[in-house]
Amino acid sequence: MSTQILLEIALPTPLRRRFDYLPPEGMSDAEAQQLAVGVLLRVPFGHQQLIGVLLATKPISEQSPAKLRPALSLVAAEPVISGEMLELCLWAADYYQCPEGEALQTALPALLRQGEAAELRSEPCWQLSHEGKGLPPDALKRAPKQTQLLATLQQHAKLSRSDISALDIPATTIKALLDKGLIEPAASAGNSSRPQTLLRQQHLQLNDQQQSAFAQLSLDRGQVSLLEGATGSGKTEIYLQAIAQVLERGRQALILVPEIGLTPQTIARFQQRFAVPIVALHSGLNDRERLEAWLQAKSGGARILIGTRSAIFTPMPELGIIIVDEEHDNSFKQHDGFRYSARDLAVVRANRLQIPLLLGSATPSLETLHNALQGRYQHLRLNVRAGSAKPPEIQLLDIRGQGLEEGFAAETKAAIAAEIAAGNQVLVFLNRRGYAPTLECQDCGWLATCPHCDLRMTVHQSPRHLHCHHCGHQRALPRQCPTCKSSRLQPIGQGTERSENALAEWFPHIRVIRVDRDSTRNKNAMQKILDEVHQGEPCILVGTQMLAKGHHFADVTLVVIIDADTGLFSTDFRGPERMGQLLLQVAGRAGRAEKPGRVILQSLHCDHPLVQTLVHKDYHSFAELILQERHITQLPPYRYLALLRAESKRPEIALDFLKMARQEAQALMAPHPQLHYLGPLPAMIERRGDRFRYQLQFNSAQRRPLQQLLAQLALTLEGHALGKRVRWAIDVDPLEM
Ligand code: ADP
Ligand code: ZN
Ligand code: ZN
Repeated sequence: MSTQILLEIALPTPLRRRFDYLPPEGMSDAEAQQLAVGVLLRVPFGHQQLIGVLLATKPISEQSPAKLRPALSLVAAEPVISGEMLELCLWAADYYQCPEGEALQTALPALLRQGEAAELRSEPCWQLSHEGKGLPPDALKRAPKQTQLLATLQQHAKLSRSDISALDIPATTIKALLDKGLIEPAASAGNSSRPQTLLRQQHLQLNDQQQSAFAQLSLDRGQVSLLEGATGSGKTEIYLQAIAQVLERGRQALILVPEIGLTPQTIARFQQRFAVPIVALHSGLNDRERLEAWLQAKSGGARILIGTRSAIFTPMPELGIIIVDEEHDNSFKQHDGFRYSARDLAVVRANRLQIPLLLGSATPSLETLHNALQGRYQHLRLNVRAGSAKPPEIQLLDIRGQGLEEGFAAETKAAIAAEIAAGNQVLVFLNRRGYAPTLECQDCGWLATCPHCDLRMTVHQSPRHLHCHHCGHQRALPRQCPTCKSSRLQPIGQGTERSENALAEWFPHIRVIRVDRDSTRNKNAMQKILDEVHQGEPCILVGTQMLAKGHHFADVTLVVIIDADTGLFSTDFRGPERMGQLLLQVAGRAGRAEKPGRVILQSLHCDHPLVQTLVHKDYHSFAELILQERHITQLPPYRYLALLRAESKRPEIALDFLKMARQEAQALMAPHPQLHYLGPLPAMIERRGDRFRYQLQFNSAQRRPLQQLLAQLALTLEGHALGKRVRWAIDVDPLEM
């Protein structure tokens, strides 16, 4: 008798469909029917083998293709992906128009996708030895990592390898301490040994505002709350206390943080408060560590998971709360492949599980704010700083007609000098790395542009070269102008290197520390800088948005924002929103109880209503102003957007593709007058890395018709010959235009 059962499998291919296979040889129909959805199977695919996820079993029907192949083998009888997680992934694949197999591939740890067993290895653990316990705290002052590990072990009875790597402490440190006899192996933690106590440290007494916000959280139902409060207003303390209540009920907690915000300090803050196992999931982990952390969460061993974007896809069987910190941050949206938003999926996941979700930010995204103002989310606000620190005072400095010196107004320079003289630290913010954004010939006006992009190349000084920040192309700094042979080539504009040079020249006795992608390329470089700054000696920090997030600098009393206007007139409609968020994030870095902070904002557009509102009122009023504009111009959050992006080395091919797509779409859109399109238009940077990029925009007042259109369109495009000649993608709720 022939086989009756078919396996419906999602495979990691760009095709938007499921694939049917016969059960592996030797597996009976009865066994095949018993297979759990979510198990992995190895299957033949063309000439390759792929591992796919079983989505359903079904009987062979007349429509079944004639030439079915059997799967090769079952990877393991246990499903790697739980029902809840599988549903979330499939929902997301559908919503973001991503093939199911690709979405699942993003959601699963790499080693599992390669067929590795989903089993926890028992991890080695370490504890302090007798000598280690007796060691004075500063005995290993010259080895900061060793000191950090010893100090952490003073607080925790033992730590496993993943605990230690979550603290960003390398294996060599463990070995060094073992060799010195200061630590020793401990029996491994295991999953069953749940600690008796939850808290390692008492909660802080909430202030009145925190108290009233906290009282409004319902931790037993699916409620989304926006917690809006300036940096330092005590949001994290509320997270910690909400998590404690959830843990007490035997549930797990998931905390999502921006890529740049997941620092050892963040993890340490949770570890100091809670005695329960905590794991971190971030891009710094290797595949093995990722798998371990994922399995810890899945097994319920880990009670708290702190992670970046992709952590939203971690199975947590007892999940009881999700927190998204800095919810406005762009890094929650994936910008290629499976273009999901982890923040938005958190809303979906919390809703499905009927558990609370807390979205925290000093500068909420307009989408979230709009939802809160409409009453869809609960809106909780904290206005004062939690400790006794005061909010920084912002001074708008009109630089029109002022002769700037290396980008600094005379008044700014004097203010820096005064703070330094008083023994304080200063932070100078400039969101542009390199020496100068442009190299120009003073005689003929030639500009150094990238041969592969429509963009100017940035001048870098250490080492000296020209660099395209979009495609990575680099070349030597020319000695003379290629057009007129003049040697009068001038770097124009300010980058962090240039500001660093100027400040080092003006303040020769003070450390000037540059913080940008170039200066922190080496592992641990950022940590070294932070350690130095936290020592509290006077210094000047010059940096990009890397300085704006996550870190708090207690001894910084002056923040200088060199160029507040970037973003104000951007062609991206989100430019002003981002500008306001970034400026306030930077401003929030400064000041503590004893040392209040002050911010100088240099601007050429001091009269601009957005700038005025941001400085003289608050983010909230600023955001409301932008919301009014978005309402008038019918942009998100008042309409839903999706982009069909296409790129090709030959511009006409990408354009032809989009014109074809427009034609197809027009037919599909006919019955839905609320659906609109725009384009095809060139992307903001039309040519990048030798590819020409265009986009077709769709928008709608309702999600559903837009979703239906996109799904049908995607299938059509996939089957179209032109679709194979360009790189195309659908971006739902795009953040970058
Ligand atoms: P946010 O997350 O909003 O930036 P935090 O929760 O980190 O704010 O609080 C900022 C600082 O104030 C931290 O040092 C924290 O320990 C302290 N803090 C928070 N809440 C309280 C409180 N109720 N009493 C005293 N200090 C507090
Ligand atoms: Zn020239
Ligand atoms: Zn380039």
